[in-house]
Amino acid sequence: MTEAFYQKLAKVRHYLHSKPELSEQEVETTAYIKSYLADLGIKPLDYPLTTGVIAEIGKGLPVIALRADIDALPIVEKTEVDYASQNQAMHACGHDFHQTSLLGAAELLKTREAELQGTVRLIFQPAEENFQGAYQVIAAGGLDQVSAILGYHNNPHLKPGQIGLRSGAIMAGVEQFRVHVKGVSAHAARPDLGVDTVPTLTSIVNNLQAIVARTVSPFESAVLSVTHLDVGTTWNVLPAEGFFEGTIRTFDPQVRLSVIDQFTKVVEATAAQFGAEVSIEWGNSPKVTFNDAELTPLVAEGSKDFAQVIETLPSTGGEDFAAYQEKVPGVFAFIGSNGDENAPDWHHDNFIVKDAALPIAVNYYVENAIRLLDYYRQE
Ligand SMILES: [Zn+2]
Ligand SMILES: [Zn+2]
Repeated sequence: MTEAFYQKLAKVRHYLHSKPELSEQEVETTAYIKSYLADLGIKPLDYPLTTGVIAEIGKGLPVIALRADIDALPIVEKTEVDYASQNQAMHACGHDFHQTSLLGAAELLKTREAELQGTVRLIFQPAEENFQGAYQVIAAGGLDQVSAILGYHNNPHLKPGQIGLRSGAIMAGVEQFRVHVKGVSAHAARPDLGVDTVPTLTSIVNNLQAIVARTVSPFESAVLSVTHLDVGTTWNVLPAEGFFEGTIRTFDPQVRLSVIDQFTKVVEATAAQFGAEVSIEWGNSPKVTFNDAELTPLVAEGSKDFAQVIETLPSTGGEDFAAYQEKVPGVFAFIGSNGDENAPDWHHDNFIVKDAALPIAVNYYVENAIRLLDYYRQE
């Protein structure tokens, strides 16, 4: 990448960083991306999306999709960079970096359009932070005709120049649950006349702890955390209802299904033991981000020319990129973006990415898109 192009992209990122927009409100961001692409001679396609942009370079089959997310978080920025957020939101997950690198990739791919043997579809996805955007893109037809999809997340624990990859799970399947228990209220001195929701709730929470310990293979992993319990209002009344909520994280689609199944059984059986009614609400959260076993080694190989590729552990965070991978094979990488010992984590008000990582992210898209076009053309 030339120094001038690098400087241009750094400026773009700083601009986007200073004007963050929340999920499903990325109006100015969408307009900015469209005008950047228009300057390159790339016309956004007419997909029915409220925010976000889909565009293409090249023509014909195969189609390889490159995805970057564009939304920010409701966090007040504490960094003192001169391009810090000018409003109450913050690009504390680095989606400013992601979309800038995809704009950079678009610019390079456009100059190489004549040599492209197929189509590269650019997906500037809205609303990753609330896990809605990937579903919106899919519903709008954004994956139609796509053979494979590539994405990444910046990773502040890796240095610029490093790319973390692994086949299989790279980010957790996330379950958000809320369990509502209904009993019968009674005087605290006459529990026999009611159905007590307090021991019902606490027993359920206790019994849930055995699921990971006793039903998940020691060679697999899962996390089940109850984070919020609410029942009762005073000392001498047994409450008629209460709830608890929390999250499950898994790294294998089978383990995920098994833990959900056990969860349901434990909740229903324990509530029945106390004679209470129970209902479980599941949030709309992402499944396991699961890298394709054939494509991941190709992308690792294709990234070695411009980055140090390392085998990474999966993150316990979730990514709605998983929704694409349920439809088409895909690869999701971690691209090193900081690497300092105390680098703040994602969603931190001091979160910071280093521009030095931009060329690696741009190359990741460009080189691997071309590599996958070749792969699918020869299939
Ligand atoms: Zn995030
Ligand atoms: Zn993110």
